[in-house]
Amino acid sequence: MSALGRGEGTRFGSGWISGALGVTFAALGAGGVLCLLFPWLLTTPDARGHYPLGVVRFLIYAFLVTGFGLGALSAILRRAKTLGLTALALATGATLLGGSGAAVGDVDGAAGYLGLDWFLLNVLVLALLFVPMERLFARLPSQPIFRPGWRTDLAHFAASHLLVQVTVLLTLAPAALFFAWAVRPGLQQAVQSQPLLVQLLEVVIVADLAQYAVHRAFHHVPWLWRFHEIHHSARAMDWLASSRLHLLDIVLTRGLSFVPLYVLGFSAPAVYAYLVLVSFHAVFIHANVRFRLRPIEELVVTPRFHHWHHAAAPEAVDKNFAVHLPVIDRLFGTRHFPDGRWPDAYGLAGAPVPEGWLRQLVRPFTVRLPGVH
Ligand SMILES: [Zn+2]
Ligand SMILES: [Zn+2]
Repeated sequence: MSALGRGEGTRFGSGWISGALGVTFAALGAGGVLCLLFPWLLTTPDARGHYPLGVVRFLIYAFLVTGFGLGALSAILRRAKTLGLTALALATGATLLGGSGAAVGDVDGAAGYLGLDWFLLNVLVLALLFVPMERLFARLPSQPIFRPGWRTDLAHFAASHLLVQVTVLLTLAPAALFFAWAVRPGLQQAVQSQPLLVQLLEVVIVADLAQYAVHRAFHHVPWLWRFHEIHHSARAMDWLASSRLHLLDIVLTRGLSFVPLYVLGFSAPAVYAYLVLVSFHAVFIHANVRFRLRPIEELVVTPRFHHWHHAAAPEAVDKNFAVHLPVIDRLFGTRHFPDGRWPDAYGLAGAPVPEGWLRQLVRPFTVRLPGVH
């Protein structure tokens, strides 16, 4: 912490904001250069052919120049030089590797890949959307962007996106492998012949019902709770806290929620539209935003509803499992939604889960947990 000079403060003019932004931009640019150089290893095969190369090169250029400039500004303004020098080193290193003009590498390579492009795109889009939203409409304005635990959450975010090949395979394959017997062509045809919007609505209902059941099992079956308690160890709620999930939690929840979608045979565009929807909605409901959204909060899960799922208070434990439709919790008697109030604190009442991605990854396999949550 002292290397970043927390003692110098983080106010405007202290070199903190320029340093943090400089590192972020320079890292995005450097990541982009690596994707250009090693596409066979670091980019998603399905996306490779679709990137507008001119736009990608311009973005990399803009990120590296801005990262360098902000890094230099921070190094001048701030006595602790770590942030400024890190940004300068990243931007300079990426430029030496070819910068925005780096030649695109060969795409013939190993069968395995890491989704660095997928990670960079998601960080960019979600941060652009949620960081300003949380600054403008903060429920807890005193909670900084880089609050305790952000490194762990960013590592979870990075791991789940870099390993996209594995998580997608483990999400899709089991349904076809174990549930092909349940498929009825007549039923699938009837499902697919419906208008896209109707299908999307049905996908939301079916997927959330399945997710509800799996999520509730993760809370009540002790050996599953070991994995899911990682998600509940977040003490600060914001957009990034949504990615604090054990890989097994991600794969089991997505894989089992996909089974009914596979069996019913919803059309691919309906499923893709749902994937876009869920990737924003699931992040939004964790965000540090004060929206009450009163007219729709009985219809659609809002941040206040899911924040109660993360509340430390005993009366909120094992409540609000739905991700999209609060009516599911009302139906099964697990709704806790006190009028207008927000939780006082988030996290687990019991033994604390240690911070750190690797520690959290191995913890469920090594720790014998005393009680059932
Ligand atoms: Zn939960
Ligand atoms: Zn959550």
